Amino acid sequence: MLIGSHIRVSGGYDAAVEYAAKLGCSALQFFAGNPKTYRVGAIDAPALQRFAAARAAAGIALAAIHTSYLINLASDDPKIVAGSLKLLKNDLEVAAAGEIAYVNTHLGSYGARDRAHGFAAVVAALEDALEGIDPNVALVMENSAGAGQLCGGTIEELGAFVRAIGHPNLRVCLDTAHTWAAGYAIDSHEGVERFFELVERELGLDRVVMFHFNDTQIELGAHRDRHWHIGEGRIGIEGFRAIVAHPGVRGKVAILETPGEEDDDARNIATLRTVLEHVAV
Ligand SMILES: [Zn+2]
Ligand SMILES: [Zn+2]
Repeated sequence: MLIGSHIRVSGGYDAAVEYAAKLGCSALQFFAGNPKTYRVGAIDAPALQRFAAARAAAGIALAAIHTSYLINLASDDPKIVAGSLKLLKNDLEVAAAGEIAYVNTHLGSYGARDRAHGFAAVVAALEDALEGIDPNVALVMENSAGAGQLCGGTIEELGAFVRAIGHPNLRVCLDTAHTWAAGYAIDSHEGVERFFELVERELGLDRVVMFHFNDTQIELGAHRDRHWHIGEGRIGIEGFRAIVAHPGVRGKVAILETPGEEDDDARNIATLRTVLEHVAV
């Protein structure tokens, strides 16, 4: 299994690679732009190529972009959907220019609209984004904590997107904190087995290419998105041991999005390495 952290690139790509290497990451995730604005910058292909070379030299085998938090493909406001698609397509182009395998995105919220209409609109938006996607880049839908009218809060709904769209480059990322918040009890061997049976049935294990490994202190099914340090929340060491031991994660990538600064990042990576020590992954 490749492991890494969400890394800030605001200090430049070189500093980001240096930081990831110091943590011992074999993968990294980053925001390609400011995650709080609809503006997109020009794509600097030479800088992205240098970034790819620096990652390779540092033993970072895989990179992923996390799209802007502003993206909402489920909105009934056409301006919001158009702005979201612009951001998403820009990230897909950045990925293609920089040897970045995955563009991970939240789908958004249905708001007050009828879910069936919203679902059809998200399908259309994802199909639009997938048209002309670089064959080496995957558009990765992340599961949500399922609060209110959030899209993608159940494995069944993600499965419905996969079946409706049927594109090989449409993939799935499962965030463990969101999974827990959505009500899936992944804190024990039995719970993890049950969860992956559902994933296998609804999505197929191969469709899931990435995990966000985050613990959380919220109650099971509370639908709140709060990340916490690995092994220090309710999923706990037992949950993460069961998750990494499952064949569904074998050979895939896990990105930590845990809070705090460098010491916390180092501790979370170290905890994950300890958890992984007992499994052949
Ligand atoms: Zn996310
Ligand atoms: Zn989250």
